[in-house]
Amino acid sequence: MKLNDIKVIPYKIFFKTPLQTSQRIYKYRSGFIVKLSANGINGFGEAAPLTGFSTESEKECLSALISVAKTIKGIDVDAKLLDIIRDLLKEIPSACFAMETAILDILSKMNKTVMAFYINKSTCSFVKVNMLYHKGFELQSGVEVVKLKIGSNTLLEDIDFVKNITMSLRPTVKLRLDVNGAWNLNTALEACDLLSSYNIDYLEQPLSRDKIHQISELRKNTTIPIAADESLTDIISAQNLIDAGATDVFVIKPMVSGGFKNTKEIIELAADHGIRSVITSMMESYIGRMALLHLSCAYQITEACGFMTGSLFDDDQQNIPFQENGRMYIGEIPGLGIEYREA
Ligand SMILES: [Mg+2]
Repeated sequence: MKLNDIKVIPYKIFFKTPLQTSQRIYKYRSGFIVKLSANGINGFGEAAPLTGFSTESEKECLSALISVAKTIKGIDVDAKLLDIIRDLLKEIPSACFAMETAILDILSKMNKTVMAFYINKSTCSFVKVNMLYHKGFELQSGVEVVKLKIGSNTLLEDIDFVKNITMSLRPTVKLRLDVNGAWNLNTALEACDLLSSYNIDYLEQPLSRDKIHQISELRKNTTIPIAADESLTDIISAQNLIDAGATDVFVIKPMVSGGFKNTKEIIELAADHGIRSVITSMMESYIGRMALLHLSCAYQITEACGFMTGSLFDDDQQNIPFQENGRMYIGEIPGLGIEYREA
């Protein structure tokens, strides 16, 4: 079956309450939905680079998608097309993720299987999820990990925040504290001392992305696990983090690392070195989040992952289905399991 139609559809969805990190305030998310069609079978994917995380801009992403669309139109949809895409889009990871997702959506629909099963016959059927703390937050039953964005206030205010949240949660619930690179080494060392009695799953990106050796120094001086997010963009940065002894956990964003194949390589490298792999969204719409769910199940991720973020948006059209008791299930619908509905 040949690719006979390709559409790149821009979208913009607003947060109910602007999302604040220590670096920026985000009011909305925007990006592109890719729709590929082959003999009446549609495949969808999402490309949504984000300033502060992605190596490419939204403009670069769009021009790469348009250029690749012209190149691949009329080509047979098969596993070889995935390799062509990966080669053409190796410099534009978000576009690569979108095209890979859309092709895998068509291929798994042709095979009448769910995408995760098409990728790996030994796929898991669900992934555990965490929740991001936000205004009006209510812990859903079964969720055992809550993520807090800190670092935009003073350290003592942040510690108070952690203390208050801890008191409001069940004692078994673990916290992931995401600093988005706001601290220096001294603040981070002091923070780790003050946080040592709390139930911390990990401290994420305490220092800025390029301070790998200082992060390694911090890691030697605390028992709290340290996670790399902004510092991790691809397999080379993953290897650098390992060589420097700078991380216990990889927070992998396939929208940044370039989709399924690149993410798989990072997960395998992590496993070889006893590093935990967590998959998170970059606040994509439901098309991107559904792709993350299939990816995480296919690659048998056992950590709680961060893509239960649909409820943060005003108009995300639909939430990922099959969500229960702190788990998200891939379900049984062939392909991605969801279609993009144009507004
Ligand atoms: Mg983060």
